[in-house]
Amino acid sequence: MALLQISEPGQSTAPHRHNLACGIDLGTTNSLVASVMSGETKLLPDHNGDSILPSIVHCGEDGLSVGSKALTFTTSDPVNTISSIKRFMGISFNEAQAINNLPYDLVDQEGRVLFKTAMGELSPVELSARILSSLKKRAVDALGDELKGAVITVPAYFNDAQRQSTKDAAKLADINVLRLLNEPTAAAIAYGLESKEEGIHAVYDLGGGTFDISILSFNRGVFEVLSTGGDSSLGGDDFDNLIFEDCVKSLGLEDLTASQIQTIRQHSKSAKESLSGSESAEFTMGKQNYTITQSQFEALSEKLVKRTLQITKRALKDAEIDITDVKEVIMVGGSTRMNMIRERVGEVFGKPVLCSINPDEVVAKGAAIQANILAGNKSKDDVLLLDVLPLSLGLETMGGLVEKVIHRNTTIPIIRAQEFTTYKDGQTGMGIHVYQGERELTKDCRSLGRFELKGIPPMVAGRARILVEFQVDADGLLSVSAKEETSGVKSEIEIKPSFGLSDKDMEKMLKDSVVFAQEDILLRQLQEQRVDATRTIEAIDAALEADKSLLDEQMLATIMHARQSLSLLVESEDAALIKEATLKLENVSAKFVEMRMNKSIMSAMKGHRIDEFND
Ligand code: AMP
Repeated sequence: MALLQISEPGQSTAPHRHNLACGIDLGTTNSLVASVMSGETKLLPDHNGDSILPSIVHCGEDGLSVGSKALTFTTSDPVNTISSIKRFMGISFNEAQAINNLPYDLVDQEGRVLFKTAMGELSPVELSARILSSLKKRAVDALGDELKGAVITVPAYFNDAQRQSTKDAAKLADINVLRLLNEPTAAAIAYGLESKEEGIHAVYDLGGGTFDISILSFNRGVFEVLSTGGDSSLGGDDFDNLIFEDCVKSLGLEDLTASQIQTIRQHSKSAKESLSGSESAEFTMGKQNYTITQSQFEALSEKLVKRTLQITKRALKDAEIDITDVKEVIMVGGSTRMNMIRERVGEVFGKPVLCSINPDEVVAKGAAIQANILAGNKSKDDVLLLDVLPLSLGLETMGGLVEKVIHRNTTIPIIRAQEFTTYKDGQTGMGIHVYQGERELTKDCRSLGRFELKGIPPMVAGRARILVEFQVDADGLLSVSAKEETSGVKSEIEIKPSFGLSDKDMEKMLKDSVVFAQEDILLRQLQEQRVDATRTIEAIDAALEADKSLLDEQMLATIMHARQSLSLLVESEDAALIKEATLKLENVSAKFVEMRMNKSIMSAMKGHRIDEFND
């Protein structure tokens, strides 16, 4: 089973050789990298044996540091210590400024956001690239130089700009991105859900500062995100805070110094974490002892837990899924280690949750498994189906141009419709020619099939409304339909878009789209100008045939002369010249157009009194 059969990059040509690839969880607070080694999915630690890399970059006077080293500057040099970089990816300066309580110096660079640091102005992409470089180093140290690439995870709700920024960061870090993968999908893959039965799954992700819920459907080999929900300011820190407040209140602490506050926060966090394994936790503050039991903590947490459950229910509602239809519930994020979370979420769904894999590592591990497959280390039968469109799909418009209807990398299944119209007066048929590729002209793209829409009622050019709908289902099967909206006339075909296209062909098509981008734009302009010129000539010819008698000899000669000049230029290579001649013909014909209009008004009014036309 292989969907679209196109872009499983680098399927192994030498089966005896293992291709090295890794999975990267580029997180808001922490990042990890993992890889499948000798059939086992393992996290790749740094030279100190730490698997978790805090997603923090310090750009100080005396150089750059990433991870735990950068973390040590959080309080001493906050302006130059950038954390939560992921929240700034792909957003504008204004959006970044709207995030509260930032200790950073933000710079507006034509709408883009930059961080002003001791090492200069740096973009979120550049900063993320530093984190990725650090992770890449771990992978190269563990796997060797021949690292084929990485699968990088992104939140399911990331939009195109955020995804593209993530890819740009990887490029800067010199990482070959095999695929971006949605975080909840990665978690589902880590649990091997793609090898089980089809159905709906929920991924409940409660981290240090954020909560995300995703409802996934797994159908005929494809994961689809049905809905997402969350709260970007609800996480483990809020649970720490409950213990902090309870401690301050019950011990009657007053006038705390900043350092005392910091200490109580640390103790509260540790107490919370130890409550996940024991009935009670305690710590001392000065001479006083503070104790909290699991049931007390649960009572304090009620509101927060309820809030996550409400958001979960809303996401199910958005996906139009009944809670009983959810097959598996996956726990992601450090805070899902709390017993009450596992229990309460399990109660709501009416089944035990999946939590056997370390919830901090599950996303990176799923990404590693996917990377291993994409690098070509699995037999074809194990290949996960693609969930994105590898090449754009579009159709031919006048002048041999391709109008893209669905862009490449769009997740499938997908339906997208676009409206087109007729080119000539009285046109009753329309050829729909479907193409695949990234270039502007049909001759540089790949024809997938064509069909005719017949029986369009005769109308003035540009009046008919033809809705062309592209639908790609989970199997990668494309169906295209065209419908004339006023008459309801409809026609359609089904196409297998990938059929016969090798990896090499696709790679070439993608490369060419970049190499020829500038040339293509110029060619497109030329083609559009030619179409415009032809349309003007045809319109004048039709008008002359009907109403030549309205013109005197002089006017007719001027129009014919302009028409002649334009028709000689139509096939020339100079878009500017064609445009000039087209405008000339339109100008010299303006009076003629006006005369025709008057004539048709006169004939419409014949037999009526003028006041019948007044409101
Ligand atoms: P993440 O952002 O996924 O790394 O999650 C970090 C959050 O998980 C922090 O708030 C931690 O305090 C919390 N956490 C880690 N271990 C535990 C545990 N054993 N019990 C409760 N919370 C934990």
